[in-house]
Amino acid sequence: MTEPIRLLVPNPSALTLEGTNTWVLPGTNGTPAVVIDPGPDDFAHLSRVRAACPDGIEEIWITHGHLDHVGGASRLAEWTGCSIRALDPQISMADPLRDGERGEVGGMAVVCATLPGHSSDSIGFIVSAPSGNMMFCGDTILGRGTTQIVWPDGNLAQYLATLDKMARLVEQYSITRLMPGHGPIVHDPAERIARYRTHRLERLDEIRRAYAAGHTSVAAIVDHVYGDLVGDTQRAAELTVRAQLEYLELSAN
Ligand SMILES: [Zn+2]
Repeated sequence: MTEPIRLLVPNPSALTLEGTNTWVLPGTNGTPAVVIDPGPDDFAHLSRVRAACPDGIEEIWITHGHLDHVGGASRLAEWTGCSIRALDPQISMADPLRDGERGEVGGMAVVCATLPGHSSDSIGFIVSAPSGNMMFCGDTILGRGTTQIVWPDGNLAQYLATLDKMARLVEQYSITRLMPGHGPIVHDPAERIARYRTHRLERLDEIRRAYAAGHTSVAAIVDHVYGDLVGDTQRAAELTVRAQLEYLELSAN
């Protein structure tokens, strides 16, 4: 049995933090590996991923269909002759992944769990490694800061339900680490999930108050609640505000 390997994509930004995390679950005794989130279509990075899998790749698993995670999947699949599996049937080359599906890689047991909210097609992988159980959670929880709800595909009610589901899974499977799509490994899963929930509810309160105070356009709410943002982070905040207004059943003008 072996431990997962992290390969960092050189695509750092305000939203991707240090870059996207590609995770390799190595095979054992000459069996092929599984790659979680090959990242964007970056030739040099994909070459490194391939080199990290000397016995080939059995399957590529996708945590969700955003390009910084899935963009390089077809190239890697073409190079290695493996198939791609995701929750979204349009991304999957083989059977789409299913909630509760069980498998095994390199002697490690794996359980899939759908995690809608950040995107509708988000799915996580609970892996029993020798060093303890871990969950690969894509962008549902990040290694640092908070994640965005990419409205309208992303949905806040679903996201809050997903946080509850993750909290239950952490307990049920004694998960000691979250392996996020961006940022460092999370070593206090239960606390981090609880903090994400508190943060979301606080933001909802702030937005409710801002709206009541007359900040009824998305731009005004972003300014008021998130402060001065530019570029991608501003657009991300706008979508997350729209998701929160939808949740609060308030309409922006
Ligand atoms: Zn991402």
